[in-house]
Amino acid sequence: MARIFIGGIATETNTFSPVPTGLSDFKACGLHHGDATAREPSHFTAPLHVWRQRAEADGHVIVEGLMAFAEPGGTTTRAAWDTLRQRLLSDVVAAGRCDLILLNLHGAMIADGQDDCEGELLAALRQHVGPAVVIAAELDPHCHLTPAMVASADLLVAYKEYPHTDIVETAGRLYDLASLVLGGSLRPVAGVCDCHMLNVWPTVNQPMADFVGRMRAREADGSAVASVSFCHGFALADIPDLGSRMLVYSDGDADLARSEARAFARQLWDMRDETRRITLDEVEGIDKALRAERGPVVVADTADNPGAGAGGDSTHLLRELVRRRVSGAVSGLHYDPMAVAVCRASGVGGRLQLRIGGKLGPHSGPPLDLDVVVRALAETHSQASVGGQRTPLGAAAWVEADGIDIVLCERRTQTLHPDAFTSLGLSLDDKSIVCVKSIQHFHTGFAPVAAEIIYVRTSAAVRFEGPVSPYRRRNPDYWPLVERPSGLAW
Ligand SMILES: [Zn+2]
Repeated sequence: MARIFIGGIATETNTFSPVPTGLSDFKACGLHHGDATAREPSHFTAPLHVWRQRAEADGHVIVEGLMAFAEPGGTTTRAAWDTLRQRLLSDVVAAGRCDLILLNLHGAMIADGQDDCEGELLAALRQHVGPAVVIAAELDPHCHLTPAMVASADLLVAYKEYPHTDIVETAGRLYDLASLVLGGSLRPVAGVCDCHMLNVWPTVNQPMADFVGRMRAREADGSAVASVSFCHGFALADIPDLGSRMLVYSDGDADLARSEARAFARQLWDMRDETRRITLDEVEGIDKALRAERGPVVVADTADNPGAGAGGDSTHLLRELVRRRVSGAVSGLHYDPMAVAVCRASGVGGRLQLRIGGKLGPHSGPPLDLDVVVRALAETHSQASVGGQRTPLGAAAWVEADGIDIVLCERRTQTLHPDAFTSLGLSLDDKSIVCVKSIQHFHTGFAPVAAEIIYVRTSAAVRFEGPVSPYRRRNPDYWPLVERPSGLAW
């Protein structure tokens, strides 16, 4: 029987975002002091549920500590980071002797004065518990895999799919691997290879779907390769460690781990032209959507994705719909608590001039003033998330402006599922264009209803694909900014 500590801290930091991430953002999204598994599983507590169920079935004792999650945003405040880190560390101290620490992290959390929150946390834990205790963490693939993280943990395993449909599966896999380490039948040795690339790699299409298949196959082929993770990196973070890296654990064979990491990194490099992301601006995107033979065409504003820390209140795409009087168009989810409050005061059927969006900074563009009719209101709106859990949206309003339907909500959250619209009574069946604010997580829910999907990067976006690096602290030696980065291992 082992004693297993479970907990975690997670957010994804966009250093270009004007929205600071404070303790109130963790409270709003999920701040659990040892009771995350006593509640319904959410996107970020689901792994803890898995670990508790598996460990208790195996006769182990679980000690549950802090699990904190905030919607991706700007840099985490120093006060929030100090509070959360110290709380988790004191939970581990209070837990007494443990054999295994299982953490649910994101891997791309940055605080004031700390580029590598997870590295600091894991190093502090290692220092406290010593080398004999197994430390294992689940990561989002959009993590910054830093040397401090790799050095301090026995096992780091990232989900493989983007959209992240395998969070629960990955939690189970991490538990299996950690159990082998506990039982002495696996001695994980890490190999890391920097890909020197920055890109967005959805895994629902080729060639990435096959790449994920090859990672899974390598883990299952009975060789000494125990785990293969592709850490995509999170390009909206201006830190020196930003990058994409392969991470492989082998059973006791450092050379094998390194050569496998390099082989997978080389595969990614060889696929670079196929995976190069071509995005349109809002004018080109709407042009293309209007040429479609049938709707609804889903147009994803990848630049205003709150799931990557954006404001969620930009008006660029909506302004284009209005300018061109595109009827039968839908746009959401617009983060605008003030506009929602005004609509609620007006009531269903109310006609008013509404100022929408454009409040969170220059990237959001100017606000948009429209004559609208309030079509529906919800006091506590929500949508299905990628893993099937519900994501709260707060109060929401559906308004119509000259044939364009707009959904506004109180919580800053990316558009994940059609029920964000349909549960308000807004049918998408007869629509020409449905604009969503999301990079890729919308895909799971919207692909079944979309006649076509078009990715758009609106004008205020941070364009890491462009001819000029947006970074001041990350060196410019990365593809696609340069055709052949100097640090390539081949
Ligand atoms: Zn991610």
